[in-house]
Amino acid sequence: MGASVFDIFKVGIGPSSSHTVGPMRAANHLVNALAAEDKLAQVEHLRIELFGSLGATGRGHGTDRAIMAGLAGETPECADPSSLFTHAGQVAATQSLRLTSGDADTAIVFSPECDIIFAPFKRLAYHPNALTFTLTFADGSTRQATYYSVGGGFIVPDDGTGEPVRATLPPVDVPYPFASGAELVQHCVRANSPIPELVLANEIARGRTGVEVQAGLLNLWQVMTDCIDLGCRTEGTLPGGLGVQRRAKAHLAALVQQETNDDPLAGLDWVSLWALAVNEQNAAGGRIVTAPTNGAAGIIPAVLRYAMTRPRASDAMVVEFLLAAGAIGAIFQATASISGAEVGCQGEVGAAASMAAAGLCQVMGGTVQQVVNAAEIGLEHHLGLTCDPIGGLVQVPCIERNAVGATTAITAARMALRRETQMVSLDKVLETMMATGADMTHKYKETALGGLALSFAAC
Ligand code: SF4
Repeated sequence: MGASVFDIFKVGIGPSSSHTVGPMRAANHLVNALAAEDKLAQVEHLRIELFGSLGATGRGHGTDRAIMAGLAGETPECADPSSLFTHAGQVAATQSLRLTSGDADTAIVFSPECDIIFAPFKRLAYHPNALTFTLTFADGSTRQATYYSVGGGFIVPDDGTGEPVRATLPPVDVPYPFASGAELVQHCVRANSPIPELVLANEIARGRTGVEVQAGLLNLWQVMTDCIDLGCRTEGTLPGGLGVQRRAKAHLAALVQQETNDDPLAGLDWVSLWALAVNEQNAAGGRIVTAPTNGAAGIIPAVLRYAMTRPRASDAMVVEFLLAAGAIGAIFQATASISGAEVGCQGEVGAAASMAAAGLCQVMGGTVQQVVNAAEIGLEHHLGLTCDPIGGLVQVPCIERNAVGATTAITAARMALRRETQMVSLDKVLETMMATGADMTHKYKETALGGLALSFAAC
């Protein structure tokens, strides 16, 4: 059926959509389910196992902090990012954890050190990002609940047999269902409408008014803008122990000083700055718009900010950009992957560059086919991109990679505008991305066991 644009873009916290936001949502889901059954107060003990990629890089991605906060009732949308560190410290110091869902609340004895187990070498069949909660109740009974964090903050519960629970909600009847680039183009041609109009009609069918969709998208843009601005004002060392220095603030000062610079490519330095600023905020665990993941969250804000420096920038342009980019994100989500643990960084930075290219091509006046071609070019040149974060942190190469991804997206959009045809289709390149991801060893899929992560460790 395809995801809503508000599933693709959502407010969350850094540093990772699959390793921070998804696990927090899984914890929310668990406590809410227990409260609904009136079982929350009967929990006596809880053990959490993090498998595969969550086990390998969960410490660097703050997975443990996010889960503890989620169990205490915090949500990715509303949690104060800095409170996660404080909360985790309190749990460790008191060896006590609150389980909270609305008014239901209980405290259990809990040791993060002993009760959160990182198991990188155990991989569950359905997805490399899996976590299992094992609960012991006051009557001595036990229960397990497993969740898969499948990328972009999306979670899927296990049905108890190692298989994901299939959709429980009835499908929403939208006027223009699409799960591929070809279907999207076909609808647009038949309706004689550009992509944003179709996506807007689908969103309205999902229950929002047109005004609410516009307000929701402008709110997301405001969060992106705030994130850029805060990143540009903040300096210091990023957390995690690698000693990575923030550079956006100094980069901004240098750009302002060179404002009379007649370098024709100076604009690209600004695009890089905006991407760096967002991803530094993300790496620090700040407030972020997942777009479509956190690791790749800088690309769309940077390219949209670039679009807004162009003539005739307006709120309507922001809405058009995000609707077109969201349509491409929904296709990734429906038929491919936005999970670095599943297909490597091609599914994160590649997906974000593809979406940003489509959004920019749209607001630069591209035809429907050109917008889809821009998405294809944006992804094609990220095929095979591995995920190898040094120290399991979303810092190196991730932060710079967003700056490069943003400039690639701009090039892709501008190239797409030059002609109507493209030898490789978006659907073919998505298929190729999945096949390439399947061929990659797990070392290159968010485990920090290969590539740069290994070279750096060996130095
Ligand atoms: S290398 Fe890419 S996929 Fe891996 S954590 Fe960084 S941004 Fe995400």
